[in-house]
Amino acid sequence: MDLPESFTQILQRNRNLLKIGISTISALLIGGTLFYFSADIKEKLQASLVASEKPIELGSFPVTVPTLKYGFAIDTFQLLERTIRPGQYLGDILLAQQVDYPSIEQIVANSKDVFDVKHLRVGKPYTILTKDSTQRAEYLIYEPNVYEYVVFELKGENKVSRHEREVTTEIKSATGTLETSLWNAIVGQGLSYDLADKMEDALQWSIDFHHLQKNDEFRLVYEQKFIEGEEVGIGQVHAAYYKTGNNEYHAIYFDNGKTDGYYDLEGRPMKRGFLKSPVKYSRISSYYNLNRFHPILKRARPHYGTDYAAPYGTPIYAVGDGVVLKASYTKGNGNFVKIKHDDTYQTQYLHMQKFAQGIKSGAHVKQGQVIGYVGSTGLATGPHVCFRFWKKGKQVNHLNLKFPPAKPLPEEDMPSFTALRDQYLAMLEKASTVKAEGASVSVEKGNP
Ligand SMILES: [Zn+2]
Repeated sequence: MDLPESFTQILQRNRNLLKIGISTISALLIGGTLFYFSADIKEKLQASLVASEKPIELGSFPVTVPTLKYGFAIDTFQLLERTIRPGQYLGDILLAQQVDYPSIEQIVANSKDVFDVKHLRVGKPYTILTKDSTQRAEYLIYEPNVYEYVVFELKGENKVSRHEREVTTEIKSATGTLETSLWNAIVGQGLSYDLADKMEDALQWSIDFHHLQKNDEFRLVYEQKFIEGEEVGIGQVHAAYYKTGNNEYHAIYFDNGKTDGYYDLEGRPMKRGFLKSPVKYSRISSYYNLNRFHPILKRARPHYGTDYAAPYGTPIYAVGDGVVLKASYTKGNGNFVKIKHDDTYQTQYLHMQKFAQGIKSGAHVKQGQVIGYVGSTGLATGPHVCFRFWKKGKQVNHLNLKFPPAKPLPEEDMPSFTALRDQYLAMLEKASTVKAEGASVSVEKGNP
């Protein structure tokens, strides 16, 4: 039996295998090219350019700049930085800082519309600002997440206020080559898991992520979000490129206020009738096969579906918009959902651990909506979804289906689309150029 590889082993292996380049190419966007971006992106780009400006030279005058945190000049306070412990309540923390009961009551009352003090979470950071640690503290600042913080005044009117942190966004590009898996190619080079997820979202209608191959190549242009210089998350993936064998795919994000989504290079929406698969990060464990030997029944029995093996509880998505015909149980299927998409197509998802909330016959579902969770109910040896695709009442192999391409953007939107597309193509191109020049964390690509 194979033991799962440790994360360190995976990283170690990938360090040797990965061929990578990452680059910040916001410089490319300076000047007239900003014209092509939507107002929103323009703002973000300008903000990130302003943020990167050098501080103004102040000559020989000594200037003392106070250190600001949470809007306070914190040099004038003593700081106690802690994290919430199990079973710890706001009252406990405040009592220890010599805040009296009436004030605590006042603080709780003042938090009512701002922050629910019952929601302090174990492990989350808080800071106490005090002038003199033997005396009653001045402020408590709690950080429910990286994007915001709550300030509790412990004196005076005991005001409570919630503040959003300033998030700056930088447009970045990344590229990588698959050696083992997409996950390894992205996470192994220190990029966020979220980026793999969003790349899959951008390309989910064109690429079957269960058939990725060694040496597949990807390039991305995306937003990296920062708070106080630290990476905190991924925003929009603006452009994605994927090459597998001789096939190349592009997804360009376009939003002009009327319409938004991913488009191919000709301005046709990427969003097709059906997703390529009903689960992410799974593997196909059994194909549609009319002569399969059944592992439990021990005899030949046609397999009319495609099995996707994934851990218990993995979300299962509706592959297209439609109406739920059935969400019920049979001995063979276990918990299953059947969806009618139109008069031609229906899909069915078997062996679910449970249904998602609201999934019952007659319910309307959207493409990509979670309809249930992976399990092994019914005749199943392990956790998987048996996915079945019905065309005109007959079960077919969905991996072989071809659907007509969607209609492109209207004529009047094409000039702005092509301008944007060309910008992104240049940026995707640049991502690989930088890699070739080695101006990144890259390991040299290709043979000498
Ligand atoms: Zn099956």
